[in-house]
Amino acid sequence: MTMSPMVKFDGVTKSYGALTVLDGLDLEIGAGEKVAIIGPSGSGKTTVLRMLMTLEKINGGVIWVDGEPLTHQVSSGTLVPADAAHLRRMRGKIGMVFQHFNLFPHMTALKNCMEAPLTVLKMPKTEARARAAELLEMVGLSDKLDHYPSQLSGGQQQRVAIARALAMRPKVMLFDEVTSALDPELVGEVLNVIRRLGSELDLTMLMVTHQMGFAREFADRVCFFYAGKICEQGPPAQLFGAPRHERTRQFLSAVLEAT
Ligand code: ADP
Ligand code: MG
Repeated sequence: MTMSPMVKFDGVTKSYGALTVLDGLDLEIGAGEKVAIIGPSGSGKTTVLRMLMTLEKINGGVIWVDGEPLTHQVSSGTLVPADAAHLRRMRGKIGMVFQHFNLFPHMTALKNCMEAPLTVLKMPKTEARARAAELLEMVGLSDKLDHYPSQLSGGQQQRVAIARALAMRPKVMLFDEVTSALDPELVGEVLNVIRRLGSELDLTMLMVTHQMGFAREFADRVCFFYAGKICEQGPPAQLFGAPRHERTRQFLSAVLEAT
């Protein structure tokens, strides 16, 4: 018996005009699996996450999340493009943290984490507040609840962004180069929070990263993207230790040279 995957890309194509960014992508991610996505700039890594966030429509194929079609819905036994209500419901299963934190600047850390549960989930205020405080504690910021983003370091802001995404109780968390905009000395505290989520919460995690050391230690599987496809994938020890494709080897040696 096989469990249905938490995330599945089934022949997904995404183009912008003549440019094909995702080229018949197939990708399956199991519940609780931690997958790192690496690859050269422009290979489609961010697009994979943006399609999961349903920020744009795909041009071909179907994306499935938690056993249900994300981009489509079933109508009279066939798959038709999803309507707004379906997308809204499915979006609640997915949380995302970007390179740039995009916190609401006029709201405290606590309010940032309460906003979506209050407005989208219509959660009672006391419950939203308790949940926000609990998550901020989990990311190590229980002493910063009443601070505004401008009063926090980049690493602290990114930790608030992670808590904010978790406040919607997603099943899948997406991270797109979440440490790339940080000063080097602040990277570790954010990676520590991601480690903690990985061990304490039952989350499926998909992360685009340039931190090869972190990917190697944290991920169950690494996918190397090239030109909108997965060129090579496998357990970190294999992909980093004995890459099979020349393109993977070239990419890894270029990245390692740069650090
Ligand atoms: P990566 O994250 O791997 O660097 P992206 O997924 O952001 O790559 O982008 C893949 C390709 O798609 C790039 O060539 C990029 O320029 C192009 N692209 C991304 N978004 C758009 C858009 N909204 N309009 C046109 N081209 C885009
Ligand atoms: Mg990107």
